[in-house]
Amino acid sequence: MAKIPHRLTLTEDQMPTQWYNMRADMKSLPDPMLNPATMKPIKKEDLYPIFCEELAAQEMDDRTAFFDIPGEVLDIYKMYRPSPLTRAYDLERYLDTPAHIYFKFEGNNTSGSHKLNSAVPQAYYAKKQGLKGLTTETGAGQWGTALAEACAFFHIPLTVFMVKGSYEQKPYRREIIRTFGADVVASPSDTTEVGRAILAANPGTSGSLGCAISEAIEKATKNAGYRYVLGSVLNQVVLHQSIIGLEAKIAMDMIDEYPDIVIGCAGGGSNLAGLIAPFMRDKLRGEKNPYFIAVEPASCPSMTRGRYAYDFCDTGKVTPLAKMYTLGSGFIPSPNHAGGLRYHGMSPILSKLYHDGYLDEARSYEQSKVFEAAVTFAKVETILPAPESSHAIRCAMDEAIKCRETGEAKTILFGLTGTGYFDMAAYQSYNDGTMTDYIPTDEDLAPGFASLPKVSGIQE
Ligand SMILES: *Cc1c(COP(=O)(O)O)cnc(C)c1O
Repeated sequence: MAKIPHRLTLTEDQMPTQWYNMRADMKSLPDPMLNPATMKPIKKEDLYPIFCEELAAQEMDDRTAFFDIPGEVLDIYKMYRPSPLTRAYDLERYLDTPAHIYFKFEGNNTSGSHKLNSAVPQAYYAKKQGLKGLTTETGAGQWGTALAEACAFFHIPLTVFMVKGSYEQKPYRREIIRTFGADVVASPSDTTEVGRAILAANPGTSGSLGCAISEAIEKATKNAGYRYVLGSVLNQVVLHQSIIGLEAKIAMDMIDEYPDIVIGCAGGGSNLAGLIAPFMRDKLRGEKNPYFIAVEPASCPSMTRGRYAYDFCDTGKVTPLAKMYTLGSGFIPSPNHAGGLRYHGMSPILSKLYHDGYLDEARSYEQSKVFEAAVTFAKVETILPAPESSHAIRCAMDEAIKCRETGEAKTILFGLTGTGYFDMAAYQSYNDGTMTDYIPTDEDLAPGFASLPKVSGIQE
């Protein structure tokens, strides 16, 4: 067989034209979202005040395996996709491993991450429904940037509630969002009732994703013609992100490779779910048995130390309840450097797959180990990785080192979700040797668990 090229990029004609919905092949489905007022499963219509109709339909659809990607969405995808699948020859050589290491790189667009894959369809469906505007939250800033890009394209006004810590630490990220025409508000803010309440209870807070979500939802539900959009966790986002895995699978088929191990970092779970989607399909259908690993920060260990329980998706407790791995919506993670992985919960689809053993393993790393891998990767593969993505790099390197020890030539695929240009304060602290690792004790986690809602008959 010919030598496998360093970078495999599909042609536009080879790109997938449908998204894949893992729920259609799951033998046991995620538990339904509950309406917090009635504790009954929500209906599609219950979601209309929050989400636009087409997205509410995608959110609730457990049956349709493949959804056509609208032509307008595909046209924008083609401005920055297909994304390359790279064989990490130099990393393999550096690690002296017989493993074949591949990564799917999603950082080749201005938002610098995979988030644009869902921002584009969410803005598109909002436009199609004739909405007046959108609201959202952003933590590290990648989602806010991606959505601002997509809203600029479709001429939709956007307000972004940005976690205050990031708003202050990442002025240039904030400025890109403004350049695309969106308003940026530091959260918690005094522009919403929930923000004022959080500020009153906790005046010095640097905010959290959960707070920012509550504020964005309040603004959307109080303004006619506005809807809220979220960049992770939701079933619709997982669906859109399947483009990552579908492209990766087509490219790997072309070179007769199939991953033994698939690895992704997990914040709300969307990139990991998207990357594994077509491979999980094979596993759910009993055709193949790849090993899936979710990687999270030791400072925000939703899967490795969280509970599988019904919880709110936000701190202000205004969202429906979702059954997921969670640290409790009251959990405010320590300010580690991987802002995109600081979420208390996890995609209900991934949570269910993990609970049922289809997602094989969740693993956590302290940030100094993650940055050590990031710096190695930057030197040998010439890409400056995002701190979030570097969790997957760390894990892939460790798996490749195991292969060196056992002599097994496993095929490893990991998701390189984005670039780290706005994370130079984090790199600086690593380079200066001042980076510290924070691992919460069980006592630190207790208040978050105590904040879990009681759902009678289901969860006391
Ligand atoms: C947001 C983000 C993540 C985590 O989000 P998921 O929904 O878990 O994929 C990971 N990497 C980057 C670069 C991000 O921006």
